[in-house]
Amino acid sequence: MSVVVVGSIAFDAVKTPFGERERMLGGSAVHFSLAASYFSDVRVVGPVGDDFGEGEYDALRARGINTDDIEHVEGGKTFFWAGEYEWNVNIRHTLDTQLNVFGEFQPKLSDGAKAAEVLFLANIQPDLQREVREQCSAKLAGLDSMNYWIESTRDSLVKTIGGVDLVLMNDDEVRMLTEEPTLLRAARRIMDLGPRVVVVKQGEYGAALFTEEGFFSLPAYPLETVIDPTGAGDSFAGGFFGYLDSHGGATDDATLRRAMTYGSAVASFWVEEFGCERAESLTRDEIEERYEAFRAMTAVEGVTTG
Ligand code: AMP
Repeated sequence: MSVVVVGSIAFDAVKTPFGERERMLGGSAVHFSLAASYFSDVRVVGPVGDDFGEGEYDALRARGINTDDIEHVEGGKTFFWAGEYEWNVNIRHTLDTQLNVFGEFQPKLSDGAKAAEVLFLANIQPDLQREVREQCSAKLAGLDSMNYWIESTRDSLVKTIGGVDLVLMNDDEVRMLTEEPTLLRAARRIMDLGPRVVVVKQGEYGAALFTEEGFFSLPAYPLETVIDPTGAGDSFAGGFFGYLDSHGGATDDATLRRAMTYGSAVASFWVEEFGCERAESLTRDEIEERYEAFRAMTAVEGVTTG
């Protein structure tokens, strides 16, 4: 099985109360693929410019990620994003977004990518997400988006949502998109558009799963130190979809709950270092340990009366 992701491949400038990086490898597709690589074979789709060098390719290939669908745009510049976090790192300010090579991007997927069983349309212009969806035969397709696209391309985003099985978005963005005050109503509104599963990311407070059958919620792993939350959502998505892909793209309740737990475990490691730097040392065994910690942390005994 393999999972294919389209999304931003970027250089990020990030400042948090605990330090800063002027230029580091980032982008939603990069965080996603590195995280998913712990569970499955991954192919990444997206454009880069001349400034994307061997060092950046190597960071992906070192985790076994297939980079054949990364399109090098001659004379172009790679997508650039700059952001700053407040002392409460749940509050992020975007300082700069330069689409660069994404401005002209026309996705052309290889046969291998078209045939992948699981597809994730990471945060990028929704027309591009739809173009990729239409080229892929994936049995399970999901998407993410953000306020930037909800504000500027809402109709296109709604159309794209209609073509996927699963939507995974931030709490605020789900409310913004649906204009519903509660998450349950917002999730139902999204399901009315087509998807049968909605995952709401809630940052430090965890994530919630809504399906036609019911609801599941998981807190975030309690951490003493958070260095940089950039990529937390995408690494969650990578762990989540990577795990689903390793189980044939199943979306039964038990598999979705395990995927939520793996996504949360991976994301908890991601935020302990800048950007995707934690992927350089993270092992599957560490992820398994944290999975077990989640199980212990969330178990509740039954009560007998009488
Ligand atoms: P998150 O998981 O939400 O923290 O995503 C962080 C990543 O999203 C960063 O590495 C950025 O490069 C990328 N990003 C920020 N803004 C955009 C945008 N408008 N479109 C696509 N990717 C973005």
